[in-house]
Amino acid sequence: MTTLDAFPTFPLAHLPTPFEAWARLGAAIGHPKLFAKRDDCTGLAFGGNKTRKLEFLIGDALATGATSLVTVGAIQSNHCRQTAAAANKAGLPCHLVLVDQVPIKTDAYQQSGNVQLDHLLGAIIHKVESKEAAPEFILNLINKLQASEKTPYFMPPGGSTAIGALGYVACAMELTKQADVASLKLDHVVVASSSAGTQAGLVAGFAALGAEVKVHGINVYEDDPAKLTEAVAGLADETLSLLGVKAAALEIIVHGDYRGEGYGIPTDGMFDALKLTAREEGVLLDPVYTGKGMAGLMALARAGAFSKDETVTFIHTGGTSGLFAYTPQFGVALSS
Ligand SMILES: *Cc1c(COP(=O)(O)O)cnc(C)c1O
Repeated sequence: MTTLDAFPTFPLAHLPTPFEAWARLGAAIGHPKLFAKRDDCTGLAFGGNKTRKLEFLIGDALATGATSLVTVGAIQSNHCRQTAAAANKAGLPCHLVLVDQVPIKTDAYQQSGNVQLDHLLGAIIHKVESKEAAPEFILNLINKLQASEKTPYFMPPGGSTAIGALGYVACAMELTKQADVASLKLDHVVVASSSAGTQAGLVAGFAALGAEVKVHGINVYEDDPAKLTEAVAGLADETLSLLGVKAAALEIIVHGDYRGEGYGIPTDGMFDALKLTAREEGVLLDPVYTGKGMAGLMALARAGAFSKDETVTFIHTGGTSGLFAYTPQFGVALSS
């Protein structure tokens, strides 16, 4: 196996992130052996899971002579916010293609939260009105940047390439070490999943360690969850190839019942999960990813999907700066 040290990285994250027991929330949902890996605490401009991926992506960008970064996401993309911050640290101009793909037109959604921070961080922002229009826009932008004698480094949504997924191979290793120190066995890991890189990196990381940990992805993005399963499987394979690991067939677990109407659209389960986690643990989740991820974990726990003697670890992937993009929706949800 090629060790992770063989890949160029650029230091961005506060590591290791905490691994903690969430006994009060565990008791409230009937699964006391509940733990959390606090990747909301990676530290870079409000933190989150993209920072781990960006350590490898920016390492690769710098090693290959990139002169700017280009990436894409929704208006409230956490990935874009963390990329803008990482670009500043690396001294690279950052182009963000922000796609108006979520049907929420409130001032809060359009101007507050992550997009406010993108402006503060000084990213060059390009707004595109639909998902369909994005690929051609990005192609033209990259052509233009190349023509002006620059070497743009393009990252797909969520930074979900095999290089980016290495960040979550590193997380799987870090978490395994923390569980060992605490004399705990990792049985189930639950994570909100959208562009597949986080889940694929975790699956690849545990496979590389030969550890039998079930990684549950809660789909928060795809209309058809089978598409996410396929994407995670493909990317996990690619990541293992990059590491030179030959693993047996990988088990990819995706739960499709917790996204609701669409990506970025609130659900009752999300609000319940946010409230319960805030009130039992004093921890903030986010409305787009971790709220739905935790809603999935709670529903699975209540349905008896985990046996009582097994540990369940929630990967808190961040996103809390998106809370303020949903101020009007919270006004309604918290008054009831
Ligand atoms: C991007 C993101 C995820 C999902 O990670 P993917 O690698 O895109 O699947 C989960 N939680 C938060 C807060 C995110 O920003």
